[in-house]
Amino acid sequence: MTTTPQTSRTKLSQEAFVQASKVMPGGVSSPVRAYKSVGCDPIFAKSGSGCIVTDIDDNDYIDYVGSYGPLILGHCPDSVVAAMTKAARKGSSFGMPTEAETKLANMVIDAIDSVDQVRFVNSGTEATMSAIRLARAATNKPCIIKCTGCYHGHSDGLLVEAGSGALTLGHPSSPGVPATITDNTLLLPYNDLAAAEKLFAQKADQIAGIILEPIAGNMGTIPPAPGYLQGLRDLCDKHNAILIFDEVMTGFRVHRGCAQTLYGITPDLTCLGKVIGGGMPCAAYGGKAELMQLMAPAGPVYQAGTLSGNPLAMAAGIATLTEVLDPENGVYENLEALSARLQSGLEVAAKTANVPVTVQRVGSMLTCFFTPTANSPVTCFDDVSKCDTEKFATFFRTMLDEGVLLPPSQYETWFVSHAHDEATIDKTIAAAGKAFAAM
Ligand SMILES: *Cc1c(COP(=O)(O)O)cnc(C)c1O
Repeated sequence: MTTTPQTSRTKLSQEAFVQASKVMPGGVSSPVRAYKSVGCDPIFAKSGSGCIVTDIDDNDYIDYVGSYGPLILGHCPDSVVAAMTKAARKGSSFGMPTEAETKLANMVIDAIDSVDQVRFVNSGTEATMSAIRLARAATNKPCIIKCTGCYHGHSDGLLVEAGSGALTLGHPSSPGVPATITDNTLLLPYNDLAAAEKLFAQKADQIAGIILEPIAGNMGTIPPAPGYLQGLRDLCDKHNAILIFDEVMTGFRVHRGCAQTLYGITPDLTCLGKVIGGGMPCAAYGGKAELMQLMAPAGPVYQAGTLSGNPLAMAAGIATLTEVLDPENGVYENLEALSARLQSGLEVAAKTANVPVTVQRVGSMLTCFFTPTANSPVTCFDDVSKCDTEKFATFFRTMLDEGVLLPPSQYETWFVSHAHDEATIDKTIAAAGKAFAAM
């Protein structure tokens, strides 16, 4: 990877990164924030407002990172700031139940048919880890199926990636994860129902459940193939396995009833995060009462958290969902219109510059894949891995120079927020036109 000489435009960020790297591995609190795969140093955030983020050198960027998904209303929406401020004055944490938890739980349950009860946790990682524990306890079976390229947080058993392909045992994708743990994780290619059928035919008595992103977002945006989710639902029903939708990214992002309502599929368990915390650390898992009643203290399956259901996080979540779920606000309609405008603008700009890309989108989740040929659908990790990451890196850096902040990897989803507007979308498209032309 060639590194562009950093300009004086980001001088303070470069200095901050040197200081950060002395005291934190790689200078960041989460690896995706390092700009390693795009060949430059990360920029440091100073503040955000609406769809604009400002770095510590006082450069403004139109933001498509959105904190990697939570900021559906953009930065610092008034209602969320007010709710959090009010909550902070009353106490930041109690270790006692608060009524705010019941309120947010009811909002989630009202919005998602498959969810009768929820448990709040602090991160998506905790939500998926706990849902899997529950699936294993409910079925008394050891194995979990995950799809190559889907991300469900960093718990040991789920840190498994490609390599061996379908129908083989998973291999750890991080040192420090023993094979004895990932032996119980089975890998399948995304969108391949036949492979799932074959795996169940071989191992149904071992399979506690399947966990997947109903729209893959962590290898770029990949919608489910027609019939795929229903096929998995049928397999789980037939073989007494639990279908877990990891909607940490898609939940309240793609539809007011989440991806499961968009596609009309009922999972047994749903994991939520990102949007339900409105920018605060909050996540949840939920499902049918008979399953959720297995969780301690109602039942025997243990899972706990000192800061779970935190009052500030609940306040931010309630304020965010109140705004997005109110039909009068037209949030989902606006997100759809803006995101469709962005998609077609990017497609036209790329075609004009003769750069082959495939733009995939569901609602306000979007990825511009630098595919070998234009408009060739990306359906699974194998397809994603054929994309040109060098081209993406070049595109990313020009966009940054043009004042547009994208997630720093070809394998990420871009998020449009309700705070974007047609003018900022059009500026983004103009910037993309320059970036494509410069390739
Ligand atoms: C972000 C994400 C997670 C992990 O959530 P954290 O809060 O980062 O632990 C899990 N699953 C999906 C689908 C995600 O997008």
